[in-house]
Amino acid sequence: MRKWLLVLALASVVGLYVALDLGQYLNLQTLKAQQQAIEAFRTDNPGLSVALYFSAYVVMAALSLPGAALLTLAGGAVFGLLWGVVIVSFASSIGATLAFLISRFLLRDWVQQRFGQRLQAIDEGVKREGAFYLFTLRLVPVFPFFLVNLLSGLTGMKARTFYWVSQLGMLAGTVVYVNAGTQLAKIDSLSGILSPGLLGSFALLGVFPLLARKIVDIGRTNKVFAAWKKPRRFDRNLIVIGAGSAGLVTSYIAAAVRASVTLVEKHRMGGDCLNTGCVPSKALIRSAKLLSHMARSKEFGIASARAEFDFATIMERVQSVIRTVEPHDSVARYTELGVEVLEGTARLVSPWEVEITGHDGATQRLSTRSIVIATGARPFVPPIPGIEAVGYLTSDTLWNLRQLPRRLVVLGGGPIGSEMTQAFARLGSQVTQVEMGPRLMIREDPEVSKLVARRFVAEGISVLLNHRAKQFLVEDGERILVVEHAGGDLRIPFDAVLVAVGRTANLTGYGLEELGIPTGRTVETNEFLQTRYPNIYAAGDVAGPFQFTHTAAHQAWYAAVNALFAPFKKFKADYSVIPWSTFVEPEVARVGLNEQEAREKGIPCEVSVYHLDDLDRAIADGEAHGFIKVLTVPGKDRILGVTIVGEHAGDLIAEYVLAMKQGIGLNKILGTIHIYPTLAEANKYVAGVWKKAHAPQRLLAWVERFHAWRRG
Ligand SMILES: Cc1cc2nc3c(=O)[nH]c(=O)nc-3n(C[C@H](O)[C@H](O)[C@H](O)COP(=O)(O)OP(=O)(O)OC[C@H]3O[C@@H](n4cnc5c(N)ncnc54)[C@H](O)[C@@H]3O)c2cc1C
Repeated sequence: MRKWLLVLALASVVGLYVALDLGQYLNLQTLKAQQQAIEAFRTDNPGLSVALYFSAYVVMAALSLPGAALLTLAGGAVFGLLWGVVIVSFASSIGATLAFLISRFLLRDWVQQRFGQRLQAIDEGVKREGAFYLFTLRLVPVFPFFLVNLLSGLTGMKARTFYWVSQLGMLAGTVVYVNAGTQLAKIDSLSGILSPGLLGSFALLGVFPLLARKIVDIGRTNKVFAAWKKPRRFDRNLIVIGAGSAGLVTSYIAAAVRASVTLVEKHRMGGDCLNTGCVPSKALIRSAKLLSHMARSKEFGIASARAEFDFATIMERVQSVIRTVEPHDSVARYTELGVEVLEGTARLVSPWEVEITGHDGATQRLSTRSIVIATGARPFVPPIPGIEAVGYLTSDTLWNLRQLPRRLVVLGGGPIGSEMTQAFARLGSQVTQVEMGPRLMIREDPEVSKLVARRFVAEGISVLLNHRAKQFLVEDGERILVVEHAGGDLRIPFDAVLVAVGRTANLTGYGLEELGIPTGRTVETNEFLQTRYPNIYAAGDVAGPFQFTHTAAHQAWYAAVNALFAPFKKFKADYSVIPWSTFVEPEVARVGLNEQEAREKGIPCEVSVYHLDDLDRAIADGEAHGFIKVLTVPGKDRILGVTIVGEHAGDLIAEYVLAMKQGIGLNKILGTIHIYPTLAEANKYVAGVWKKAHAPQRLLAWVERFHAWRRG
């Protein structure tokens, strides 16, 4: 009831303000026109004029009415710099606090009910650093005054804290605005406008936000480093922890620009991608694909093709592929490139020092100006009852297998789970893929998942969607997975289980906790990839949000350059065009938006689809299936995203990655010669689909008449 009364009172005052069009008086012209009258009134009634101005300011701020900036200028014009600052400072802080209290009284409960959980995190942040954040918002006057008041009221900040931080934080901005107002008062001719004082004041208004931001940044940095003693000089420019895709590229770039860089790796050079990820998985997929082609020999006019193989030999080939690629990532190569490579475990001991424990147990401590954390991720193993007792494989251990599991269960319908499901099925395992969600590869559009699942089923894979792994058992020596589906349980006997339900960033045991570097699912970084300590960066799987080798390498460039050249120059990591591919058959590749994401984000788009069963080369290759789907800005040829499902999708998408990155539209792709007969022609044909849909019908009607006229 009390709330409604307050709402009514506020609505009446705001209504009155709007009805009487009081806003019309809040402009520079009126201020100037009335300047003499105002000054005369102030001289005759000094006390009353302060009281009236003060009350008007408080009411405007409390009701979040627009015009605070102009009132502040007016304060300078009427009362001069000193008194203007004093009056405005108190009036604005009191008004802001009233707005804060109104917002809290009216909205906090409602917001708490609706967004309680999310607000909890914000509240905790406010408790930890609220005063500092508010101070930042106040000092840098690019955040609307009224919005800061209203939003702060929804957090758990104390009103007292809000008041004094606001008053302190706004002081510098108030001085700048009031000062500009005093200059305004002196404008009485054209030459007044060009007076150096006024120009100076406005220039100050312009640079003040930048200056304030710089001061805040310096304050924040000093605060973070306050607890640590900085070495007087550094042994290195950069230390990189982890020699996976992110760490290798980071150190490569650092050495290329002649920095002194040390790369520390505790296990195997090349990290996941080389040893347990991309390289072995693609090598295995290649052998499996050959077998699948042989199984389809009749389709190619070959009556029979029999493959004799030994699983162990295929797995040895996988290792030999790794060995062939290994020199690219080796200690020898990186040493030659100018990187100091240390084999051992690194631990952060201060923001500038890393302790390295070699494989022989010897330790050394190196100081460095900057650090890049590139410690990667590992398979996530869910705590399903019985999982430890039954034993399981992950992408880390899979490569040690030398005997093909007769019955394999794969947990997970994401990219890794799907790639391994199909590969093992083709090698001869009886594979059951268990996915908790309603479809495979859930990030892709539903028809993509459907095509992949249909192919899996056609290849003899048992695809169980909406099935939740509940328990592992061993009964009479037989391993069994119990899955829950539609309220009932299903028992799946198996010989081996591969857990592929996601990867979790490596965040513990090497000093992040001791340094208080915030982490969630990954190390928290800003857009420059800086952690809480501006000289400590993170890149690759440990930083997220993507988990690909090419995104790790992409981030590595930013991490290396920023680590070596900030604060003189630094770049925001650009995630505008990120492609990826899942190497199942049919291959799935994507860049930018798909339909599902466009819908979720409310981004309007047009969709053009070309089906590959129409493409000459795909028909000749016996791979006439799949599609290319391009999303464009309505009415324009600007590409928002592309999904390709079909043979060599991961290669075909490169043309669109380039197009999106360089701002090339579908018209230009259509106007580019593509070799016949190739799969890449499909990229042009889908541009043709778009063009046909945008043919200028009215113009064509006229052209038709023109031709008729020419025929006579
Ligand atoms: C089965 C599988 C298939 C994949 N296929 C693809 C694919 O086809 N395409 C693709 O783009 N991506 C693929 N990925 C993902 C890709 O492998 C990762 O995104 C990439 O390896 C991430 O690189 P990174 O440098 O961030 O981490 P990592 O490669 O994990 O490297 C981190 C390194 O840090 C080291 N380290 C950790 N802590 C310390 C410490 N304290 N001291 C010293 N060293 C430390 C680790 O030993 C490790 O070598 C696949 C992954 C898997 C598992």
